[in-house]
Amino acid sequence: LTLLGLESSCDDTAAAIVRQQDGAPAEILSSVVFGQTELHSAFGGVVPEIAARAHAEKLDTCVRDALSEANLTLDDLDAIAVTAGPGLIGGVMSGVMCAKGIAAAKGLPLVGVNHLAGHALTPRLTDDIAYPYLMLLVSGGHCQYLIARGPEAFSRLGGTIDDAPGEAFDKTARLLGLPQPGGPSVQKEAEHGDPARFRFPRPLLDRPDCNLSFSGLKTALMRMRDQIVTEKTGLTRQDRADLCAGFQAAIVDTLVQKTRRALTLYLDEAPAIPTLAVAGGVAANTEIRAGLVALCAELETDFLAPPLNLCTDNAAMIAYAGLERFRTGARDGMDLVARPRWPLDQTSPALIGSGK
Ligand code: ATP
Ligand code: FE
Repeated sequence: LTLLGLESSCDDTAAAIVRQQDGAPAEILSSVVFGQTELHSAFGGVVPEIAARAHAEKLDTCVRDALSEANLTLDDLDAIAVTAGPGLIGGVMSGVMCAKGIAAAKGLPLVGVNHLAGHALTPRLTDDIAYPYLMLLVSGGHCQYLIARGPEAFSRLGGTIDDAPGEAFDKTARLLGLPQPGGPSVQKEAEHGDPARFRFPRPLLDRPDCNLSFSGLKTALMRMRDQIVTEKTGLTRQDRADLCAGFQAAIVDTLVQKTRRALTLYLDEAPAIPTLAVAGGVAANTEIRAGLVALCAELETDFLAPPLNLCTDNAAMIAYAGLERFRTGARDGMDLVARPRWPLDQTSPALIGSGK
């Protein structure tokens, strides 16, 4: 089976081609990502209208590039997979319209994909792992624990009740005058900082569930920063590094402790080879990774982190998730709708009102 995947739910326009023969590992024949970072940089965040227009403009080129990189034409495809949500609605609509156009013109089946399912299935694209596995999705927009039981069967164990960790990293960088994206710059500063000098809060750790909260970190950071600034005239390089190190330590601690809880729940199901997989841009953080690797070693669980370019937004994960759905016989019609919100686990009470 050979599928073209399209992704346009946030600020990356992407197209990719994934192929899988029966019983063989999946192959990424091409993966094209056109980032919009420069278009939005002056506004301090993604501007939905600008994003939607840029997607509409770039999708055709991305599809053409994905095909030519894979040395294929539209006639070689078995189906088209497209992100149908959740995300910025204008962008999702651009992708869905483009996919419908190709499907209609070529008489190809259409498969709508949940963007989060794309992230959550990435470990199966890159490695031969069996269901059920535990997934920690940590990105700029999401933070949740899922047990993946099938291409459309996920149980959500918990997640952030406010900010996502990536958002917290980005806000911290902004408050300290460090470059965006905040994750890498905060991590770099933290390398020569003292994590013990500032004690950041670790909310919800006293609760037995798998929910997390990160919005208090920025309030704490502002308070600490303002106190230093009033005592002295400004922040020194060392102050900044110590603040970053303290902030990062709080995130690592929180994630590791909540992951311990999620793993305990998951291990109750006793799969033959238990696996914790991570996805999302924040999974690139070296300290977070080290904490999770140590935890998994202790709990005799495999740790799997797909390569970074597949952890962040891309269309290969959408093509692959579409392929898994397609295999189960799933098809969507021309009435496929773009959804701004689309929880992976429709049954989870924790989701009501959160939209994520
Ligand atoms: P989503 O895909 O959930 O809608 P997104 O597209 O914003 O969100 P990603 O592209 O997966 O998220 O990841 C980007 C986020 O990852 C940014 O917030 C960035 O700061 C963060 N990030 C990247 N590298 C690191 C790092 N080394 N440490 C911490 N955070 C990082
Ligand atoms: Fe994403």
